[in-house]
Amino acid sequence: MSYPSLFAQRLASGSGIVDLMADLGEALNVNPSMLFLGGGNPARIPEFEALMAQELKQLAGDEEAVHRLLGVYQSPQGSEALISELSAFFQGLAWPVTEQNICLSSGSQSAFFMLFNLLAGPEAHAEGKKILLPMLPEYLGYAQQGLAEHMFEACAPLIEEQPGQRFSYHCDFEAVESRLAVGDIAALCVSRPTNPSGNVHSVQTMECLGRLADKYQIPLIVDAAYGDPFPGVVYDAEPIAWKPNRIFVLSLSKLGLPGVRTGIVVADTSLIEKLSAINTVLSLANGNLGPALFESLLKAKKLKPLCSDLIQPFYERKRNYMQALIDTHLQSLPYRLHQAQGAFFLWLWLKDLPLTSFELYERLKKRSLLVMDGSHFFFGSQVLGSHQHECLRLSYCAEDAVLEQAVILLADELKQLYAV
Ligand code: PLP
Repeated sequence: MSYPSLFAQRLASGSGIVDLMADLGEALNVNPSMLFLGGGNPARIPEFEALMAQELKQLAGDEEAVHRLLGVYQSPQGSEALISELSAFFQGLAWPVTEQNICLSSGSQSAFFMLFNLLAGPEAHAEGKKILLPMLPEYLGYAQQGLAEHMFEACAPLIEEQPGQRFSYHCDFEAVESRLAVGDIAALCVSRPTNPSGNVHSVQTMECLGRLADKYQIPLIVDAAYGDPFPGVVYDAEPIAWKPNRIFVLSLSKLGLPGVRTGIVVADTSLIEKLSAINTVLSLANGNLGPALFESLLKAKKLKPLCSDLIQPFYERKRNYMQALIDTHLQSLPYRLHQAQGAFFLWLWLKDLPLTSFELYERLKKRSLLVMDGSHFFFGSQVLGSHQHECLRLSYCAEDAVLEQAVILLADELKQLYAV
């Protein structure tokens, strides 16, 4: 059977995110002996799991709660009880929001699909507009989400090499502004922290992007899946506040709840209305479990201490451990690590790599080590030359012993390749 529709071609004919999730499924569900530094699964944090188990027991023991959890569809905007708690929580951060500025989705991935196709793509009598990613590399999960072809435009980063085998990407504002001046951009979108590089755009960078968005009267989408206000996996940058003409997309996944598939969008009320309508057409309603668990965390005022006293320090220690492993075992090699300011990945740049990062990924996979080939994260219209085939993304969520074994194996493979 053939599937000639454009929809099938856009969504079902191979994409980085499908390969990534297939690798993840293989390593975490089927073949756990793989050394897994691949997908974006959060780490297993026993204290967090214990807290969730306690919440589940409480829910299960309450007849009315069980009925609300299993026997009722949510309204189009999402659970009213959670939205009301969220609205109070955001107001506590001095965000100028009400309940009408918030809606829920089945994971933030599906919120992005709805958002991109709501804002950009073909119009009745015009080619339509595009989404601009101000700084590559960016989250590969966006890449195949446009129903129209070539929905994404992107700007190459400025690269700053730093002492101690480190480097940073910076946003090239001139390139962003000249791309905006063409007049066919519907929205800007950045992840903060950035998946894959672990970059966290500074407050000044966000203000500058915000000013550009306002000047061109388009929204700025901020993907805070790893960031503030939760789960807060940010090591050295200030939080930013929501304001009108911004679209913040949050998620429960990186808190440790990828299984409940809950995303949260904070935006202007007219956009929330549209999004709620689209979500209802696509999904009828969201699941109830994520909202029920999160509502109870918010009500009990447990969220902030959970993020600042447990989750953030947990990942910071893992980051330090993984950086030390790389600096020790890759010492003789021409590598650079991106400054790891947030999320739970190290972004490794292997200068003058004698093969492509995809070929390296394949060789490592044959040796039972799963990493992410960095080339997937360079998409949109920009071509960056050799750099985009010289990077790997390494998750540091696995157990310490797995990280150590993985880095030793990676170093061994690289020493053979570079012949050092
Ligand atoms: N945004 C970023 C930057 C991500 O890394 C991910 C998942 O890895 C998502 C969004 C989607 O997450 P979810 O659909 O689980 O909320």
